[in-house]
Amino acid sequence: MAKISINLKDGTVNKEEAKDTIVGIDLGTTNSLIAYIDEGKPLAITDTEGTQTLVPSIVHFPKETDIVVGNAAKEFLVSDPENTIYSVKRLLGKSYNDLSQITSLLGYEIIDQGEESLVKIKVGDMFYSPVELSAEILKQLKKNAEKELETTIETAVITVPAYFNDAQRQATRDAGKLAGLNVLRIVNEPTAASLAFGLGTDRESHQKIAVYDLGGGTFDISILEIQQGIFEVLSTNGDTFLGGDDFDSAILNKWMTDLNIDTPELSGDKSLGQQFRTTAELAKKHLSTHDSFTGLVNNNQVSITKSEFEHLIEPLIAQTIDRCQQALEDSKLDKSELNHVILVGGSTRVPKVSESVSAFFGMEAKHHLNPDEVVALGAAVQADILAGNRKDMLLLDITPLSLGIETVGGLMDVLIPRNSKVPSSIGRNYTTSVDGQTKLKVSVFQGERDLVEHNRKLGEFVLSGIPPMAAGMPKIEIIFQLDADGILKVVAKELRSNVETQVQIKSTYGISEEEMGKMLLDSITHAEEDMKIKALQEAKNEANSVLIASDKFLSQHSDVLSKEELIETKKLIEILRQRTSEGTKDEINQAMDTLNKYTRPFAEKAMDKTIKESLSGKKIG
Ligand code: ADP
Ligand code: MG
Repeated sequence: MAKISINLKDGTVNKEEAKDTIVGIDLGTTNSLIAYIDEGKPLAITDTEGTQTLVPSIVHFPKETDIVVGNAAKEFLVSDPENTIYSVKRLLGKSYNDLSQITSLLGYEIIDQGEESLVKIKVGDMFYSPVELSAEILKQLKKNAEKELETTIETAVITVPAYFNDAQRQATRDAGKLAGLNVLRIVNEPTAASLAFGLGTDRESHQKIAVYDLGGGTFDISILEIQQGIFEVLSTNGDTFLGGDDFDSAILNKWMTDLNIDTPELSGDKSLGQQFRTTAELAKKHLSTHDSFTGLVNNNQVSITKSEFEHLIEPLIAQTIDRCQQALEDSKLDKSELNHVILVGGSTRVPKVSESVSAFFGMEAKHHLNPDEVVALGAAVQADILAGNRKDMLLLDITPLSLGIETVGGLMDVLIPRNSKVPSSIGRNYTTSVDGQTKLKVSVFQGERDLVEHNRKLGEFVLSGIPPMAAGMPKIEIIFQLDADGILKVVAKELRSNVETQVQIKSTYGISEEEMGKMLLDSITHAEEDMKIKALQEAKNEANSVLIASDKFLSQHSDVLSKEELIETKKLIEILRQRTSEGTKDEINQAMDTLNKYTRPFAEKAMDKTIKESLSGKKIG
């Protein structure tokens, strides 16, 4: 296994230390941040106006001009909500299925193209993936850093919540790649936070730490154990819909009651609502360091004292403490076994929050001057460790290139991303794309490009004996096990019938470090075009499943449709078929969206009919 750094300008491989600046990035739900190491100390970088380090994670699509990100985009949340995307981190790596409860809360349109497919966001006539939108935020951060440091930034460590799954981590990596960054590693936010507090940077120590992170819209509690510089997450808990925004709402609601008016959002005056909300956030921040607040909103006098505010948010804080209790139980630790409790996230600036956390854990929780910068600062420390600048830290063995399999349309599906620790093991489920398919060819590839044809084929084998089933029914688990010597064992197993095949491959055989460097460089210079081809292929794959499902539906349930409806449905299916063979990604998505929207009521009708038939069937029996 290798510990390599690669010069992205010329593709040369450097076995000593990396010389370029490696940055740490906190890609947050509410705010994002980029930091670097300045003379041994982590420092957050300010935006291009040089005024603040936090970049609101908001992307606005103006009608005529280029995309804007951050503060410049924030003002459009009220004036142009359909074209202003926020909280995109909530959508990363998710399918529509995972999201059904939250889509109604967002001001922009999320496209439902089948429960299993990844979500897309519709802006005008264009369809964006959360990966593309996150890449826009990363590009902005990169730009800010390049301006301030007067150098090009190519390599980064990006943080994710500890509970992020494989798909969400991969999506974050893809976003980095698309933004032109070589993502050296994806690091857990609580791990980064601990590093920022200097915990775990000393190889000798053995510590147990609770990380309490209260941001704008989310709350996370993680219990970590650090041994010899290795972080293990013992447990995580939290609430993905609890944060500082709820503190703002509590103040807003109090004022509405005081003034005896309806919530402005409800009465339809969005801009007044936003003025109240902005002032509520201002009041909250003011109360972190003062005892009372008074202000004026559109000629209405508003006020609140610190003790009133604390009373309002007491139940919200209590909820976070319950989650801490749960996380402790899951970690099988007693409070007294913890060495440190650390506070992360802008909302821990509220004194009542830090007091409550300290009281619960029975020890003074550690503060940082800027709790909202902590994660990015720690990511910069991690980057510095990976760059080999901290001689006291050990570097773990890692895989130099990603390993994955070919999926429909020649796409590379990465199972073990490059820079993963070894040994490493992962399983993922796949299915068939054709009815009655009894064999499945598994082709294993190595490399960073989105299409397997540009990667290195390591081997292939056939899983046979799958019982004939309708397309999509078989559950095929592919397991990748990579050992410390780079031997990859691949197992394919059909879970309904238990048929299984496996092979062993030596993953680093016959490839030089120079070639690896070249492959990595190519993946970044081709990221944009690869992404386009991949998005088109994914749209085609989805469209093909929609076409199969639609044809099936018509052959079984055409009786729930009137003659006109049948003609229209057939017409829309034909349009989709034609777009799928020669259209662009957006044209295919558009046609799929139109067909789905038109036929959804019929699918419901057919469902009712089937249920009625089965009910009446029972009565006869
Ligand atoms: P995220 O991790 O969700 O991206 P942050 O850690 O940046 O978010 O936290 C953002 C939240 O912190 C917002 O709700 C903001 O109002 C709140 N916040 C920032 N500064 C203060 C302060 N001085 N007092 C209270 N809350 C604050
Ligand atoms: Mg955060």
